[in-house]
Amino acid sequence: MTAQGADLTHIETWLFDLDNTLYPLASGLAGLVSDRITDFVADLTGLPRGEAHALQKQYLLEHGITLGGLMSRHGVDPQVYHAHLNQVPLDVLTPDPALKAALARLPGRRIVFTNADEIHAQRVLDKLELSELFESVFHIGHAGYSPKPSPEAYALLALAHAVEPRETAFFEDTVRNLAPAAALGMTTILVGEDADLCAADFVDYRAPHLAEFLASARLKETE
Ligand SMILES: [Mg+2]
Repeated sequence: MTAQGADLTHIETWLFDLDNTLYPLASGLAGLVSDRITDFVADLTGLPRGEAHALQKQYLLEHGITLGGLMSRHGVDPQVYHAHLNQVPLDVLTPDPALKAALARLPGRRIVFTNADEIHAQRVLDKLELSELFESVFHIGHAGYSPKPSPEAYALLALAHAVEPRETAFFEDTVRNLAPAAALGMTTILVGEDADLCAADFVDYRAPHLAEFLASARLKETE
């Protein structure tokens, strides 16, 4: 077993990525969102779907999010882009009572740190019945459209929420997004069913099952 009883007794701020972290990749939502992005890129550029998909992935790699390339190379309005994405149905998501209970027991504040926009974040949190557990959502608009893993995103988050990295844990399914968090001194947890396969030295813990990981972690004593 990996990281049973992880020592998180120093943590007071709990940062969570949203997509494929607070719900499993296996839900299929990521694929539905990706299809909508491909539609958007194909409509915008007139490219066949296959080429539009390749361009989407190229921008994702180069800019952290596809939107970065669409904004800088095509002048896309992020509000128009997000309005298109946010029509995605969320029926594939179901609340997870074990995750909700595990999150609720964490001492301190919980914040979502996402490359998605505010509306997507709220829709997903509402569907998962987790909204009331999070003090705030730091979204791509707050980051000035500089997505994770750009260092600006982490700096703006830290400033906006007075984050003390040494008392902060960051949970993410995208391994490269954990590197800047580790550099700042945060405790890093890679989430996802393949997490145990990752050998990156900036990953402190691996959580194939987030609810179980949180439920078994050692936490700061509270009154
Ligand atoms: Mg994610």
